[in-house]
Amino acid sequence: MTTQDFQITLNERSATAEERERVLADPGWGLHFTDHMVTIRYKEGKGWYDARLEPYGPIPMDPASQVFHYSQELFEGLKAYRQADGTIVTFRPYANAARMNRSARRMAMPEIPEQLFVDSLEILVSTDREWVPTREGQSLYLRPFMFATTRALGVNQPADEYMFVVIASPSGNYYARGIKPVSVWLSRDYTRAAPGGTGEAKTGGNYAASFAGQAQAVEHGCDQVVWLDAVERRWVEEVGSMNLFFVYGTDAEHGGQGARLRTPALTGTLLPGITRDSMLKLAPDLGIPVEEGRISVQEWREGCESGEITEVFGCGTAAVISPVGHVKAPDMEFTIRGGETGPIAMRLREELIGIQYGTRPDPYGWVHKIV
Ligand SMILES: *Cc1c(COP(=O)(O)O)cnc(C)c1O
Repeated sequence: MTTQDFQITLNERSATAEERERVLADPGWGLHFTDHMVTIRYKEGKGWYDARLEPYGPIPMDPASQVFHYSQELFEGLKAYRQADGTIVTFRPYANAARMNRSARRMAMPEIPEQLFVDSLEILVSTDREWVPTREGQSLYLRPFMFATTRALGVNQPADEYMFVVIASPSGNYYARGIKPVSVWLSRDYTRAAPGGTGEAKTGGNYAASFAGQAQAVEHGCDQVVWLDAVERRWVEEVGSMNLFFVYGTDAEHGGQGARLRTPALTGTLLPGITRDSMLKLAPDLGIPVEEGRISVQEWREGCESGEITEVFGCGTAAVISPVGHVKAPDMEFTIRGGETGPIAMRLREELIGIQYGTRPDPYGWVHKIV
């Protein structure tokens, strides 16, 4: 199946330039959607079929659809960026396609050909290109997702029919008012993912299971929740829906012997972030070595107290890099770098954003041109 096989129905009620401009003046995050969407169906034995580009709108569903009852669902998230010369690009879309298929294997769902996944993004973004914001730091967030449509309540097998959908949402700059470090709550009551579970799959159920922990973080005056490992409740895994990085030492420019990064290793319970993976490649090329390993809560606290740990930040597609300034738990509380944003987080952020928006070279071939 190629882009020629998409049946195209343009939206007769597409937003006018004025309506679009009103949204793009202050898009917020995940609140507004473009004029079109992609839908593709799958049936066991038949494969992927009925690819469409059609007006954005409700999807009629049978109430017995398997996804409503047993949550066979997965999703992806990436952005389209408008570069200074007007070119529209996405960032590492084949990495998202590959991750969606890894998630699919865990959730006993069908894999989608990587090229069909990327074609779907291209056809949607090029049709709705006027929705890709031009203002600094803004982008068009792309949300591919897949769910089980089989009409059956039997619980003992995966569905045999699915739907793949892509929608797009203009999104504002997460840090329009400047980067502000977040405060985090170490959850001791809840965990996000257990060994053998679905932690490394990007599936909605992981989020449903995380909201109670996130609500607790907010009750304690924190922005986000930090997830510890489910077995010992000792090893730091992720923050909210971001991967974590710890900076040890200080670079020469700021009077130190050199900074290095550590990030929790992918044990099967962490989501393998594409931003995380990009940091692993980018940082060493900037002279900042990175290692993957285990970091305990105790090491985190003691490292901050001794000054060995100089910065901590979360990273993911939505916020890019989000410094952590303050840590709270039932039995402890400490700040990192006096709650200020550090130079390593800022530098990595600027490098990555520079590649995405085309203001810096892209030696890795990460940027994928759409139009
Ligand atoms: C999506 C996600 C991330 C970040 O992944 P990116 O590919 O960098 O956006 C991290 N943790 C969780 C739990 C996620 O769902």
